[in-house]
Amino acid sequence: MTENTATQTRTPAIEVVGLRKSFGSNEVLKGIDLVVTEGEVVSVIGPSGSGKSTILRCLNRLEEPSGGTVVVSGIELTSTKTDINVVRQNIGMVFQHFNLFPNMTVLENIMLAPVDLGKKSKADARVDALALLDRVGLTEKADARPASLSGGQKQRVAIARALAMEPKIMLFDEATSALDPEMVGEVLQVIRDLAASGMTMVLVTHEMGFAREVCDRVVFMAEGVVVEEGTPEQVFGDPQQARTQEFLSKVL
Ligand code: ADP
Ligand code: MG
Repeated sequence: MTENTATQTRTPAIEVVGLRKSFGSNEVLKGIDLVVTEGEVVSVIGPSGSGKSTILRCLNRLEEPSGGTVVVSGIELTSTKTDINVVRQNIGMVFQHFNLFPNMTVLENIMLAPVDLGKKSKADARVDALALLDRVGLTEKADARPASLSGGQKQRVAIARALAMEPKIMLFDEATSALDPEMVGEVLQVIRDLAASGMTMVLVTHEMGFAREVCDRVVFMAEGVVVEEGTPEQVFGDPQQARTQEFLSKVL
């Protein structure tokens, strides 16, 4: 296949096969298979400690898999030949804690990575950062310091900062879990808009109503394995596995 036809084929955005991860003798991922196609929004749900964060961290090699393969945008992450920094530029990640740089303004936080990594000139990065701030509804906070923002505003800046690298895929790990309840909605709205724009996303979330509304597919995992997956209607409305039923009876 030539490079040209390869990019036109509907390649999966993410293809995880037999992914295993152990920490010492503790095997936390026991052979995970997961395919996410371009533009798809997938939520990963499951009890605490089941390995959800570890999966996301293996997708951008914040953790090195113990076994299996992870292919992102057609590039095999698990190959030693792969330049992991190039792969990471295609994947934006948003965590529970925002980790903004406190000594920089909001605008500087968003401009930093594209300028530092030589992706954009300072002038271009500034124009793009302002557009992103508009997109997350925080234009008036461009020159503010993170400390002066609410939790919801900080998380929206963190999303804008991830988007500044123009990633093809966004990963969210419990992006609203650290927020006061009244700020959850504004962050979910930004994620909802991103989904509508066609962004490929994997969301680890405790917001079951949101997962049901926004996601194309829901993956339920427990104890390091995918127990069940399907459309939100299937998984929430008619779960097949006892483990899924038990979990949902506690959280819905
Ligand atoms: P979840 O996100 O579903 O709550 P995690 O992926 O964070 O679960 O963790 C799954 C398991 O892996 C847990 O038992 C956790 O203690 C363990 N774990 C995660 N990261 C590490 C690490 N860096 N070192 C040792 N154990 C870890
Ligand atoms: Mg987690």
